[in-house]
Parts: sequence; C-alpha cells; structure tokens
Amino acid sequence: MGKGVYIYSDELLGYDMGPSHPMQPTRLKRTTELLNLYGALEQVRVVKPEPISFDELCHTHSQEYVRAVDFLSTGRQVPASYCRFGFGTGDNPVFAGIYEASCLYTGASVQAAQAVLDGEPVAMSISGGLHHAHYGKAAGFCVFNDCAAAAHRLRSKYSRVAYVDIDVHHGDGVQELFYSDPSVLTISIHQSGSTLFPGTGFVHEIGHGHGEGYSINLPVSPWTNDEVWLNLWRQGGFSILKAFRPEAIVLQCGTDAHYLDPLANVNLTAQGWLEAITDVLSLGVPIVALGGGGYNQTTVPRMWALAFSTLFGVVLSDDTPEEFSFHSRIPKLFDIQRPDVSSYEMETAREFAGTTLDEVKRRLFPYHGLIST
Ligand SMILES: [Zn+2]
Repeated sequence: MGKGVYIYSDELLGYDMGPSHPMQPTRLKRTTELLNLYGALEQVRVVKPEPISFDELCHTHSQEYVRAVDFLSTGRQVPASYCRFGFGTGDNPVFAGIYEASCLYTGASVQAAQAVLDGEPVAMSISGGLHHAHYGKAAGFCVFNDCAAAAHRLRSKYSRVAYVDIDVHHGDGVQELFYSDPSVLTISIHQSGSTLFPGTGFVHEIGHGHGEGYSINLPVSPWTNDEVWLNLWRQGGFSILKAFRPEAIVLQCGTDAHYLDPLANVNLTAQGWLEAITDVLSLGVPIVALGGGGYNQTTVPRMWALAFSTLFGVVLSDDTPEEFSFHSRIPKLFDIQRPDVSSYEMETAREFAGTTLDEVKRRLFPYHGLIST
C-alpha cells in the first residue's frame, strides 16, 4: 500500500449547473492541475471514477427520487410536480446528463470508501462532499448524498464510522440519513442555521431513538475566527470523536468557512481550517476525504491542495508553481493576510461559541462518558 488514493478524471467536470451557478466545476480542475504541477499526484494512486449502481444508490435515496433524476437527465423541462424533488430552483437547476454526472461523483466517493476498505490509509474524492441531498430531494447544489453513500459502504466492514463535516454549512442531509443510527456519529461545525442555509444544525438536534446522542452540532456565529472555531472544534467535536473510537472517518472538507468565501460569513484562514484536518488525521484511523463547498476560486484549490498535503503526507512548498501562480493568481498556499475583524465582532463570536460549547457539554457529553467541567 502506498500513501493513498486520489479519485479523479475530467469526466467529473460534467456536474455543471451552469455559468452563473456558484458551484463551478473548475474548482476540481484547478485543484488537480495545481497538484499535478507540484508533482504531488505521482506520489499517490490516481483512480478513474466509476458511477454508483442504481441498487447501491437506493440504500441512500428513495427509488422514486432516483428514477426522477434519471427522467430529468435528457435535459427536458422540469414538470411542475417535480418541485417536490427539489428541482427547478436557482440552487438546483436541471441540466442534460444530470443523472450520469451525479452517479459519477457519488461513485467516486464510494470508490474512495472501498479503497479504505481495501487497506488504503487515505482516499480523497474532491468532487464529493455534497452533504445537503436528502433521501428524496435535491438541495443546496446537491443531487445525491455521496457522503452518506461512502459512510454506508464503510459500514459493510466497520461497526463505528464517524462523519466529520467542516463545511461552513450544516451537513443536514447526512445527519438526517443517520439520525436514528448510533453506528454513524455525525459531527458538523458550521455557521448557525439562524443566519445561514440550510437553517438547521442546532445543538438540540442530537439524534433520535437508538441514534440519540450521535448527532453533534457545533454552530458558530458570523465573524468566528481560527482561534474561536478551533477551540469549539477541539473541546466539543474532537473530544466526542475520540470518545466514539471510530474505525474509519468520512471527512467532508468544504472550504467555505474561509474569510474570503462569498456565500458565508465565517472568518477562517486556510491554516486554521487545516488544523482540524490534522486533528482528525492524528487519530490514526483510515480517512475518506471528500470535497464540499467553497466558492472563491482563489481559495478552494489551495485549501484542497493543503488538505491533500496533510492527509497524504506529501510536502508542498508554500510558493505555488510559477505557471499556476501566474494564471490562477494563487502565489501561496497559506494565507498571508488575516481577516479584519473589530473587537466587538470578535467578542460576539466568542460568546456565541462559548454558549454552543456549554450546551454541547451539557446535552451530549453524557452519552459518550465525558465529563463536563
Ligand atoms: Zn457549504
């Protein structure tokens, strides 16, 4: 076994919701190009994605929904009745080939899970991380929930799988799909649903039935910086993750908590965000790393390159290769500047995170044998 597996081919760029949509497939192409120019992909195994099968998809989604996406794939006009499947909105436009493209990114994440089952320490699928898709409905740019499909595949061998989501939006679809299942712990740190899509992810959403205590939500407020975010992650999320003793982890690496992201208001730098990935890696269990959100074209490729570097143990110089730096306007991987935040904003964010942490300790620590001090 080598350092791990990177699942990619340009076919993944077919998941394209149009030129004015925020989620541009060039994010994937530029990241891969950057890694290629570094020579980083020569140090891992690059595997071409294969589409997920209909049968496996139906472990995560209703047959009715999967058939509806297939029906829309010719690019035909969306019937009014299909609003119930989440299509026909600006967020989730239908495009020709939507079924095939969605099966491909979902298959890529399942392949990453299979690579881990086959003994690889890390497998990365940056086209995945589409965490908002529901059992029977598209949402928030996501058609199929590859995160859940990957966790489901891992469950074929492991009895305890953790899903860790550091995207700025709540991982609502994944939480919902495992809400009653104690074998999949979901942890999401995100901007509070009171100020951001999808409007969920409050601490009191703790799971249901046998799954009670296994849905962990760590909401933060706008202006949250590295220090406040990391403190909440480490004391709240990471301590529960360790206590759960996962045998494998699905790590959703959305980059939209970065301070330059246009769709949210959290103020992380690339280096702060990366520390959470380093923490997860320190547990020494296999990781299926997925992409996710991230809508600033000068931050996404470098943050995913940094995630790649950390997860696979491939050293990359902070100065990006000259050719890339010139046409992509990304001269360095790490942030040089820090967000400009007033002391009032800082204090507001700190107080909000403090309340979240207290509530997580009170409501959730007892399920995991942790003592709230
Ligand atoms: Zn997001």
